[in-house]
Parts: sequence; structure tokens; C-alpha cells
Amino acid sequence: MLQPFALEEPTSVREASALLARYGEAARLYAGGTELLLAMKEGLLHYDRLINIKTIAGLADITRDADALRIGATATHRTLERSPEVHTHFTAFTRLEAHVANVRVRGTGTIGGNLCFAEPHADPGTLLQVYDARVKLARQGSTRTLAIEAFFVGAFEVALAEDELLTEIQIPYLPAHTAAAYRKFGLLERPSVGVAVAVTALPSGVQAVRIAVGCVGPTPRRIYEAETMLSGKEIAAVRAGLPEAGELAGRAADAVSDLHGSADYKAYLVGVLLRRAFEDAYQQAMAGEATDG
Ligand SMILES: Cc1cc2nc3c(=O)[nH]c(=O)nc-3n(C[C@H](O)[C@H](O)[C@H](O)COP(=O)(O)OP(=O)(O)OC[C@H]3O[C@@H](n4cnc5c(N)ncnc54)[C@H](O)[C@@H]3O)c2cc1C
Repeated sequence: MLQPFALEEPTSVREASALLARYGEAARLYAGGTELLLAMKEGLLHYDRLINIKTIAGLADITRDADALRIGATATHRTLERSPEVHTHFTAFTRLEAHVANVRVRGTGTIGGNLCFAEPHADPGTLLQVYDARVKLARQGSTRTLAIEAFFVGAFEVALAEDELLTEIQIPYLPAHTAAAYRKFGLLERPSVGVAVAVTALPSGVQAVRIAVGCVGPTPRRIYEAETMLSGKEIAAVRAGLPEAGELAGRAADAVSDLHGSADYKAYLVGVLLRRAFEDAYQQAMAGEATDG
């Protein structure tokens, strides 16, 4: 049962940060509440005070500038799934969002809550890594920007100071001849394995490959060694190298055994999904689509 708590409704990031600074560990930010309230109802967590950041104007906006798409932290999964801006530039992200949880969770849960909770069995943090996305963090009087990779510290642990909020996710537009794809597999409510690939390809060969693996270990991560193995080669050589790159990615992902399956099983699936995601992204890059998928 949910224990009583006080609810704060700040109207600015500065005010929310000040509340965090004032109440410390007795308070917690709250957006959609799909993770937090569940954990509080089950008695796993308790806070005397929740700070509702959905009351902050502008924090759910999706805007474009010359370099990047900027997604406000309180944008819900449903908003992202239906956003024309996201679809135009990052179709793989649209598809990912359409398969997060169920429509009820998507309608309430936010992208910021998903990233900040850092539950290992989550999707967006993996794809955002091959997009080279950045997160904007703010507290009273200062902001900083971090590569998304550096934001994930461990399972349920992110690089946020006590009085800091995630305010924005910045996704730079993809280079020319580049497309991305995300593949996941799972039999339970949340994904067991997720693999994201971005490919830059010309008829002369595959110029660059970015790979990230999520859900299998404590945090989603880029697999740079596998990227190097596949980049700057003709397509036949890349296809021939995919099984080895898949094995490497499976090992490097630090898979753990849990309810979703054994570490070996997950590492094997990483290889399977890597091949599928690569082929998908490659075909789209070669088709010269303006977006990914
Ligand atoms: C049944 C179910 C199925 C799910 N399936 C999937 C799935 O398939 N794939 C997937 O990726 N996810 C899945 N999820 C997770 C879902 O995406 C998250 O629950 C949701 O995005 C969390 O957002 P929220 O706004 O509800 O977070 P909240 O519960 O409000 O907050 C979560 C945590 O993040 C902190 N926080 C929130 N916003 C900020 C911010 N801006 N700055 C700093 N800290 C912040 C809060 O303090 C809290 O600790 C599932 C969840 C459920 C309940």
C-alpha cells in the first residue's frame, strides 16, 4: 500500500532543484510515476515528499535546431512514438518507442524517467548510444551536458548530482548515408536483450558502424571493438565478420544470468540481433532513405 507523502509542484527547474537540495534523501523527483509509485506501493522505496516535474512548463517540448533534435525530459513515450519530428529524423526511435511496455505505460511514463531510473531492462538508452545522444543536466544556476554513455553508471545508477535534473536529450542528426536499427527480444514484460546498430554505407563499402548492446548487463554500452572490426570494409567482408563481431559483442556486454535467461543465452542472442540490426540498417543506408528505421 502507498504510504502518505507530501507533493510539491514546482514551476521551474530551478525550483525543483532547490526542493531537492532542501529535502535531500527524503524527497524524490516524480514524472510519470510508473517506476517510482510502483516501487513505493510495493514498499521497496519510501519518500516523504515527491516533486512532480510534469508541472514545469516547456520540459516536455520537442524542438529542432541546426545540429540536433532536443527532447524534453518529461515527453512521454507515447508523445515520442507519435512525434513527426522524431519520425522524420530518427525512425528507429519511433519504432522503439511504439514497442515500449503497453499503451497505458507509454501514455504516462517519460523518456527522462526511463533513463534516470536506469532499470537495466529498458530500450531507449541502447539506441540513443548509437545516435551519440547527449543529456542535459541542470541544477540551480548551472547546466552541463554529458554523452549518454557517461550518464549510465550502473544498474539503477546514473551520473546525476543530488539536486540535479535531467532536462533534455539531444540527438545529433545522422551523417549522410547513415541509418540505424534496433532489435530486441524478450519473453517477459520487459526486454531481455536489445541491440542497436547505426551504419554509414556507400556502394564502395561500409564506412562506419556503431553498435550498442542493452538489457543483458547492468548498463547499456557501446561495443567499440566490434565497431572497429566492421568499419571501413567492403560489404562482403563485413557480412563475413558479423559472427565474430557478434561473439565479441556478446562477451563485451557483460551479460548476467537472471530471470530473463542465462548469461550464455543472452550473449548468443546479442550475436543474432546484431546480424539482423546490421542488415536492416545497412539496407536502409544503401536505399538512401533520409531517415533510419
Ligand atoms: C509494465 C511495464 C512495462 C515496461 N516495459 C518497458 C519496455 O518494454 N521497455 C522500456 O524501455 N521500458 C519499459 N518500462 C519502463 C518504463 O519505460 C518506465 O517505467 C518509464 O519510462 C519511467 O518514466 P516515469 O516518468 O514514469 O518515471 P518515474 O517513475 O516518475 O521516475 C523514475 C525515476 O526517475 C527519476 N526521474 C524521473 N524524471 C527525472 C528527471 N527528469 N531528472 C532526474 N530524475 C528523474 C525519478 O526520481 C525516479 O527515481 C516498463 C514499465 C512498466 C511498468
